[in-house]
Amino acid sequence: MCGIVGYIGEQQAAPILLEGLSKLEYRGYDSAGIAVYDGNEIKMVKSRGKLKVLEELTQGGMTLPGCVGIGHTRWATHGSPSDINAHPHFNKNHTIAVVHNGIIENYMKLRKKLEKKGYVFVSETDTEVLVHLLDYYYNGNPLETITKVMYRLEGSYALGIMFKDHPEEVYAVRKDSPLIVGKSEAGNFIASDVPAVLKHTRDVYFIDNQEMVKLTKDSLTFYNIDEEEISVEPTHIEWDITAAEKGGYEYFMLKEIYEQPKAVADTLNPRLKNNDIVIEELGMTDEEIRNIKKIFIIGCGSAYHTGVTAKYVIEGLARIPVEVDLASEFRYRNPIFEPGTLVIVISQSGETADTLAALREAKANGVKTLGIVNVVGSSIAREADAVMYTWAGPEIAVATTKAYSTQLIAEYLLAMKFARVRDVLSQEEMEGMIEDLKKLPEQIEFLLGNKEKIQHFANRYLATEHVFFIGRGIDYAISLEGSLKLKEISYIHSEAYAAGELKHGTISLIEEDTLVTAVITQKELYKKTLSNVQEVRTRGAFVLAVTNTGNTEVEKSADYVIYLPETNKYFTNSLAVIPLQLFSYYVSLGKGLDVDKPRNLAKSVTVE
Ligand code: GLU
Repeated sequence: MCGIVGYIGEQQAAPILLEGLSKLEYRGYDSAGIAVYDGNEIKMVKSRGKLKVLEELTQGGMTLPGCVGIGHTRWATHGSPSDINAHPHFNKNHTIAVVHNGIIENYMKLRKKLEKKGYVFVSETDTEVLVHLLDYYYNGNPLETITKVMYRLEGSYALGIMFKDHPEEVYAVRKDSPLIVGKSEAGNFIASDVPAVLKHTRDVYFIDNQEMVKLTKDSLTFYNIDEEEISVEPTHIEWDITAAEKGGYEYFMLKEIYEQPKAVADTLNPRLKNNDIVIEELGMTDEEIRNIKKIFIIGCGSAYHTGVTAKYVIEGLARIPVEVDLASEFRYRNPIFEPGTLVIVISQSGETADTLAALREAKANGVKTLGIVNVVGSSIAREADAVMYTWAGPEIAVATTKAYSTQLIAEYLLAMKFARVRDVLSQEEMEGMIEDLKKLPEQIEFLLGNKEKIQHFANRYLATEHVFFIGRGIDYAISLEGSLKLKEISYIHSEAYAAGELKHGTISLIEEDTLVTAVITQKELYKKTLSNVQEVRTRGAFVLAVTNTGNTEVEKSADYVIYLPETNKYFTNSLAVIPLQLFSYYVSLGKGLDVDKPRNLAKSVTVE
């Protein structure tokens, strides 16, 4: 999900590609590579690790002479980070080179088809199918060939393509992954993002889904999927490089909050096939799923909070007992493992030390383990018996947003799959739920549209000292996350309580104007939570309520109400989290804090 660059012009391509890739480093990556046409053939150098390694291997680009090339920084989604899996990828005769950013959802099917036709795959990537498919359809006309391939692809892609037979041209195309084109006196460029070309030009072209561009050293020609020429107007970029890295957002956290509709769709769509949920990577037969007696879900911080949600969802839907544990507790508490136990460990980085230790503890006890992680090839991904990836893309801000949202999706899918296989959820019910899942990206988008309202509200609470979050059931699980988000980036003391628990102690802390955020999305618990809201309100609290559209009753008890679009009762946290993330973000921003790098915190906690 990372960076692509391409150059064609009068100058040496390799140093320009390396420099361009360095400007995309902020997007996160695990390996890098470049390919350059040297007047005779397309030569390539690629390697796992940082760009520095590639720079050393190519002596700053000197060992790859030539004025036409493509480059890539990879964030692995299919296949571990390795030299072989790094891009560019080639067809067998080394006449076509491809760099790819995105995910090819139907790559398995395409791979099988191509293997039957004799194509030999050298990597584990989804990307490699692209290059063999280009080879398969190649008829001497790059445009026609690329179009044919596009018709066969499902998923997201931005591609940079070189054909040895057309050495004076570079091709690029995109669908649901970013791609820009830059034009300058010294040649033309493609890139995933503007910072990669800013040194050379401020005139860029944004191309739309399923549009193509052919670059020569002095021309750009744009095409639609029918291979008809189209005109695209350039945009003059005024931003400086730091603003450009964040895509115009002030902080990575806000950018990542806004990436959630896509991250959720990317994690969801590849696992929905013909009204069914297909989680091939689970590696469990239906028989094994029916034999699960108990599930442990283990994580730290926000990952643990998604586990708390998952407990309600899995128990509610699949009727399998679930215990949720903090990884740092689990590893030392001598848990009881019985036959039929499944241990699910959750970690964005896949390197969280306590979670990894908990996984090892489970494995040592001979139970089946499943990792839900975002970083392909990470320690948890390698060590767990099975791994289900969240395809959130790299997350830079310390406070997680899109990784959290995609972990929820993975857990919903597991719960529904288990419930269906165990026959406690009918096909019809599951299909209804799949429809609701598919609406989530759009509904998240809708909630993001309300950000000004939340910013306005947040600005009233910059000086506040304590905030409480309350809810029941699934709403309690989201309260935990709302509270953590606020305290980690705004340094305001906050606590989450199961709403019914307040009167057993915490209510003594409520005084005039204390902010209490109440999440009220579970219909059968509306009344119960509302009476808790009244309890705090009569003691002076100011109540911000998050509830479902239509539940106007809440307005009588709360001071400020945020409405969520209608979804299945098990999926409400995917929506409720959005205003809570925005609230924390704007409080932190309003206080002038470093939103992306809060004090004392690290992105990946690799120590105990
Ligand atoms: N899905 C491709 C891979 O795993 C591309 C990943 C990327 O966008 O960097 O190789």
